[in-house]
Amino acid sequence: MAERRVSVSRGLSVLSAAGLLLAAGCSAGIREIYKQPQETRLEAVRDRLAPITSEPDAHYWVRVCEPSKQNVGLAVLFQRHIYIAQPIAELPDDKMLTALVAHGIAHHRLHHLGQRSGVLTLQNVVFKVGGNFVPGLGYGKYATEPLSEVAMGSWQEMAADAKTVEYLKEFGYTGKEWLDALVYLQEHGYAERVSQLVMRGNDFTGRIAKLKKETQ
Ligand SMILES: [Zn+2]
Repeated sequence: MAERRVSVSRGLSVLSAAGLLLAAGCSAGIREIYKQPQETRLEAVRDRLAPITSEPDAHYWVRVCEPSKQNVGLAVLFQRHIYIAQPIAELPDDKMLTALVAHGIAHHRLHHLGQRSGVLTLQNVVFKVGGNFVPGLGYGKYATEPLSEVAMGSWQEMAADAKTVEYLKEFGYTGKEWLDALVYLQEHGYAERVSQLVMRGNDFTGRIAKLKKETQ
């Protein structure tokens, strides 16, 4: 019994370590351009959107980032951070920026980042604790992590897309602005990153088709 207690507590320290790793690694690959001139414009867009979200006083960090190796156009990261790649932030189209910021807020309001890390850390603990009793079981997490995160990512995107359209309509737009923004990302080879999951190209196809049906 004593041995079991030690193993469980070891598992819990793995939980804390995994949480820390996720928090520390979440912005890896995204480089903020400090005080980039378009930042003020993004903040103005955010402030205009705030009253129509369910938590208008929540603060979101909207920032401009360098186009990364993965060519991320929109990144939604922990602690209410939303990054938009410099070439997109410099487009004159306010509707595009509003749609992108609204989508970032939608992911945060729907608690998508916490849900993902929760699933990953739970898996780590289950397999690590299990691994102490059954040698080899600890490796299970490597097999299940990518699948679970991708599966979770796709239903989260559908929910975030719907929420974005809802926000844009409340804002006085048609909602089609989000469809246009997704099409733009796809046509220009940009990716969307939420936490550690990066989606691009064909990942957008199903979402675009669904949005076309709903908004046209
Ligand atoms: Zn998204």
